[in-house]
Amino acid sequence: MNPVPVIGLEVHAQLRTRTKIFCGCRHEYGARPNSRTCPVCLGLPGSLPVLNGSAVRLALRLGAALGCRIRTRSGFARKNYFYPDLPRNYQITQHAEPLCEGGWLEIGPLGARRTIPLERIHLEDDAGKMLSARSGRGVDFNRAGVPLAEIVTRPELCSGEEARLFLRELRRLLRALDVCDGDMEKGNLRCDANISLRPAPGAPTGARVELKNLNSLRGVRKALDHEIARQGARLAGGTAVAAETRGWDARRGATVFQRAKERSSDYRYFPEPDLPALVVDEAMLASIRRELPELPAARELRYVRELGLAGDVAATLCESSALAVYFEAMAETVDDARACANWVTGEVLRLCGETGVDVAEFPVPPDEAAALLRRVARGGLSLCAAKAAFATMVAEGATAADAIARAGMGLIGDREHLSSVIARVIATYPEQAALCRAGKAGVADWLTGRVMAATGGRADPRLTAEILRAALMRPDDG
Ligand code: ADP
Ligand code: MG
Ligand code: ZN
Repeated sequence: MNPVPVIGLEVHAQLRTRTKIFCGCRHEYGARPNSRTCPVCLGLPGSLPVLNGSAVRLALRLGAALGCRIRTRSGFARKNYFYPDLPRNYQITQHAEPLCEGGWLEIGPLGARRTIPLERIHLEDDAGKMLSARSGRGVDFNRAGVPLAEIVTRPELCSGEEARLFLRELRRLLRALDVCDGDMEKGNLRCDANISLRPAPGAPTGARVELKNLNSLRGVRKALDHEIARQGARLAGGTAVAAETRGWDARRGATVFQRAKERSSDYRYFPEPDLPALVVDEAMLASIRRELPELPAARELRYVRELGLAGDVAATLCESSALAVYFEAMAETVDDARACANWVTGEVLRLCGETGVDVAEFPVPPDEAAALLRRVARGGLSLCAAKAAFATMVAEGATAADAIARAGMGLIGDREHLSSVIARVIATYPEQAALCRAGKAGVADWLTGRVMAATGGRADPRLTAEILRAALMRPDDG
């Protein structure tokens, strides 16, 4: 019997505040190293932390959305360790009394959802960042003091894929709540994964390995899959798994030993003497609950149940609120939710990818996209032409009406207009027309070219061919 993986995640989400958690320095990514620092976040003697209320509200928003119990009185503690990126030599975190406890997150596709229980969510400050050798060795403290919510799951995930799904679900929730940017590449969302194997049902688990700082969804899955195989091989070979901290080496595709696992007592936690208890009053909590938006999972379900969208399309739309908002704005004036959904997940996403623009900054407003689709629905425009017009609108900022007129796509189906153009072309080139009637190959293509030139390339090719054929039919043809 195969041993069963037991996995728990510790996710760090940088909260979207304007300033840091204990000082007024800007929380800003990409600024010149050490330009966003002050005595507090540099840990200078005598400086005192003051808790940022926005950080608390964002953490509460997350806790409320995840169904956590909120502690009305929580506290901060010092977690002591030495590392060059930690200026005070201790992190201010919540230990015995976290802000949020319990709660859960549902993961997986609709119809096959699984509930993953949470342990806790607490507030803490981020550390600085070691700079690479290339930029000159040193430490950048701009990140030191950035507010973090640490979301800790119970050890109830069963595979690398489940861990990936959990993170993806959490990421879209964080984004929908405006709590965190959820950009793993920039490091504002980071994940450590704990993994042990249970040799047989009911048996105690083996030692737990902690995989540090996995910086992509795929990385999380791959690192866990590798670690499951590594621990499995050790068990099968009769060697125990050691409790240790390992990192993921993406290039080698393997987890690598970093250090023996520290124990809680190694950190010499004690209550932070410079901060009072964090008290959350009922009114504040009530207003936070009232202001929660429709959550992505609920939105996805509504799209499937009420709008009849396919599950995967609904899931794609609900990946980002901006995308969902765009879709809903279109669907308000187009009487076909599926067509709108396909348009957004197809055209809008593709053009975003090609132009490198975020959906939130997409240049064509949804009502213009809707105008195109209404034209298609009325039969005045082919879907293909609508897509071409849309590309023009994105590239040149044209309105739907402009793009259609300019590309002359409105001519499609205008048989009378095209017939008169063709009659004029035949009258202008009587010799070629005669050759064509006589069956000379290639002349019809040449005449088609003249029709295209006369319409500025706006003639519908199929209709042109049909009218031309009828006009140039040899007397004995029919
Ligand atoms: P630490 O502070 O040492 O990291 P915690 O008790 O806070 O320890 O647990 C951290 C994470 O470890 C949690 O996500 C939890 O679900 C997970 N975890 C606990 N026990 C196990 C286990 N046996 N195997 C895998 N993960 C586990
Ligand atoms: Mg840990
Ligand atoms: Zn500061």
